[in-house]
Amino acid sequence: MNKDGCIFCQIASGELPAEKVYETARVVAFKDIRPQAPVHILVIPREHIETVNHIQPEHRELIGEMFLAAQEIAKKFGVADSGYRTVFNCNRDAGQDVYHLHLHVLAGRKMTWPPG
Ligand code: 5GP
Ligand code: ZN
Repeated sequence: MNKDGCIFCQIASGELPAEKVYETARVVAFKDIRPQAPVHILVIPREHIETVNHIQPEHRELIGEMFLAAQEIAKKFGVADSGYRTVFNCNRDAGQDVYHLHLHVLAGRKMTWPPG
């Protein structure tokens, strides 16, 4: 689970292709390859952070920037008012498959609660 061979590090650097929708010096956002909603974007830090458990105090601003990216993306896709869901899955029980921190931004359909 280190950064060598990490697909999201490779997407961030451009080594692997992805449909990018937003980028800054510190974060990148791109379309999920298997969308679970009409809008399904992943926001990632360029820095390799494995899970929510690995977030450090020095990442405070970076995590805030991920949510500001989500906000911009929601505006860009016209779902800021209709609504969207932001999700970090952490570890096995939450269904984390890729061990590089990512914020799911899901929208374009009515979400259910509680989540499955
Ligand atoms: P997780 O289950 O770890 O929270 O979410 C990982 C997400 O990454 C999944 O929704 C999955 O479809 C997406 N994903 C996995 N590999 C790729 C890839 O190579 N490209 C893109 N765009 N999305 C990916
Ligand atoms: Zn990575």
